[in-house]
Amino acid sequence: MVDLQSQYYKIKSEVDNAVLNVMDSAAFINGPEVKFFQNELEQYLNIKHVIPCANGTDALQIALMALDLKEGDEIITADFTFAATVEVIHLLKLKAVLVDVDYDTFTINPEKIKAAITDKTKAIIPVHLFGQCANMEEILKIAKQHHLFVVEDNAQAIGADFLFSDGVSKKSGTMGTLGTTSFFPSKNLGCYGDGGAVFTDDDALAHRLRGIANHGMYERYYHDEVGVNSRLDSIQATILRKKLPLLDSYNEARRKVADYYDEAFSANPNILTPKRAENSTHVFHQYTLRILNRKRDELQQFLAEKEIPAMIYYPVALRKQKAYFQESNDADFANTDKLLTQVISLPIHTELDEEQLKYITDVVLEFMRAML
Ligand SMILES: *Cc1c(COP(=O)(O)O)cnc(C)c1O
Repeated sequence: MVDLQSQYYKIKSEVDNAVLNVMDSAAFINGPEVKFFQNELEQYLNIKHVIPCANGTDALQIALMALDLKEGDEIITADFTFAATVEVIHLLKLKAVLVDVDYDTFTINPEKIKAAITDKTKAIIPVHLFGQCANMEEILKIAKQHHLFVVEDNAQAIGADFLFSDGVSKKSGTMGTLGTTSFFPSKNLGCYGDGGAVFTDDDALAHRLRGIANHGMYERYYHDEVGVNSRLDSIQATILRKKLPLLDSYNEARRKVADYYDEAFSANPNILTPKRAENSTHVFHQYTLRILNRKRDELQQFLAEKEIPAMIYYPVALRKQKAYFQESNDADFANTDKLLTQVISLPIHTELDEEQLKYITDVVLEFMRAML
């Protein structure tokens, strides 16, 4: 699905030198590289504060901890996403209220958010799934009207831009109260281990987030609240400093792959290519097709036989997972339930060449023809 090795070889000497410099400095934890990366990411995102942490799941947890929520408070998020989003809600003894997504964009449906709001609702977590922003214009309107926090789970869309109807453009993850991301190796901006960050424009929240990520400690050895230990280490930070200037070109390379796939599959009546929303650029963390002939699983099998990896993101609705089970009326989740049976994600990354793309698309189309 990804080719991290080829990507590394292109920047190997620069990255190796940077890592060796950190080794020489022995400033492994909270070294200057972390601060430099933090500042550079703040500039890239045009946001006041980036708070680095150990991974994208911690970023979500720390973000929610900073909002002073009480046990049982309700957080609305999508039923169709990676589990980390709801996992942290459960860990903090908050109540996850899962709602359906939009069939074309795979992101949370604002009308469903409205319908799910109660007296106990405190926050919305839109997930910018597969590399495209959720409908933040509507979501921010709803949040403002109901005085709700918005925490953007931006693990899959770093570098995407959202265009508001007044002409203002903002980076994904910088529109809500807080934004979170992951630097897991296969994410669009990935390090060579684990990493994550929280973003905010709010000075007081930034102070709070830093304290929570550091054992609830605001003054050395004075613990004002129960926090966690969650840090981005200096080696990962120095690697990310080498990769951040390449992020836009990485995202562009992914878009080119998506263009190739779009073109190849556009005429096939049993394949729906991913829709590009009008108000968000797409950074294609995943390229996800919807297969309409009920042969999705057979297609995945056929691709595997031809040594083409393809993944089902995601096979089970979160509301049906044992850990997060939520009583629900399936009719309210028609899009999620349809997507679970139709989606298949093809390889997409910065190193795919035309020969590989031709092979992949030929094999997919060969299978689809055989099924007619
Ligand atoms: C990857 C991911 C996370 C978690 O990030 P980790 O760094 O693996 O903890 C959270 N949310 C979404 C949507 C993700 O894709």
